[in-house]
Amino acid sequence: MIEQMSEPAGAADRPSPSFPPSLPGPIGVPAVQVSGVTKTFRTRAGLVEALADVDLSVAEGEFVALLGPSGCGKSTLLRVIADLETSTTGEVEVFGKTAARAREDQDYGIAFQQAGLLPWRTVAANVALPLELHDLPRKQRKERVAHLLDLVGLGDFAQHHPDQLSGGMQQRVAIARSLAEQPRLLLMDEPFGALDEMTRERMQAELARICAETGAAVVFVTHSIPEAVFLADRVVVMSPRPGRITGVVATGIGREVPRDDALREDRAFFAKVTEVREALHGSPVTGVGREER
Ligand code: ADP
Ligand code: MG
Repeated sequence: MIEQMSEPAGAADRPSPSFPPSLPGPIGVPAVQVSGVTKTFRTRAGLVEALADVDLSVAEGEFVALLGPSGCGKSTLLRVIADLETSTTGEVEVFGKTAARAREDQDYGIAFQQAGLLPWRTVAANVALPLELHDLPRKQRKERVAHLLDLVGLGDFAQHHPDQLSGGMQQRVAIARSLAEQPRLLLMDEPFGALDEMTRERMQAELARICAETGAAVVFVTHSIPEAVFLADRVVVMSPRPGRITGVVATGIGREVPRDDALREDRAFFAKVTEVREALHGSPVTGVGREER
């Protein structure tokens, strides 16, 4: 399936919000408010109930991971939030606006599994696209693109075309593009799924750093438990058929805690990974603590 693109809106120079770790819920207008959303697809084989009774609030500056097995409706939920799919029932608000209005206003950046780059544009021109659409002056545009490409480790590939890059490199271009305008909200669907493990860990750390710097809220789809715990303030656990939220685990890892290798080796981190795994499987796992090394 070809994922559609939307360009993020500028929110530069906003002060980073600070909120306590494991904030239970949003203060003021949430970045995302999903209320009573269901989604049923009509297929030739019959009806597919992809989402049932989904309620979710994401605060400004909060990082929420959507975690669940393949087919549980994670992408559908993200696409409903992004207004790329309409819900069958229920409502979605983004910064207090309808999902459709937020899309028109380009209030968020999107990075999906498929990079979705324009093949005839260079790497630099792909990243520059959202900035061009918002008429950023040429000089600033060039500087911003150079900065973003450095950020994702592709400074030397600015003049290459997408088909000259590996899948993982294309994905990094897409991530740079989603960050181009420092959006207040990022919607990401397994953006690191195609990356090798080392690059993936580096990109996770970069994303966490960028979010801490810009104060962006993130809804991040993944099926990796450690990735969800490493990045998120809250991990929202979903179950399949029909997709519904079955658990929410606050990681308790504050935004001020650096997302680095030390965190990955922290006992508290392993304990959270175990807690999330149990939430996912619905029962305690035996042998808890075995990975605490
Ligand atoms: P996930 O991202 O968690 O793997 P999806 O949101 O992609 O799950 O899919 C949830 C369910 O909805 C699956 O059963 C899938 O086959 C179905 N589905 C998703 N998109 C469509 C579509 N456009 N038409 C019909 N069924 C769909
Ligand atoms: Mg998916």
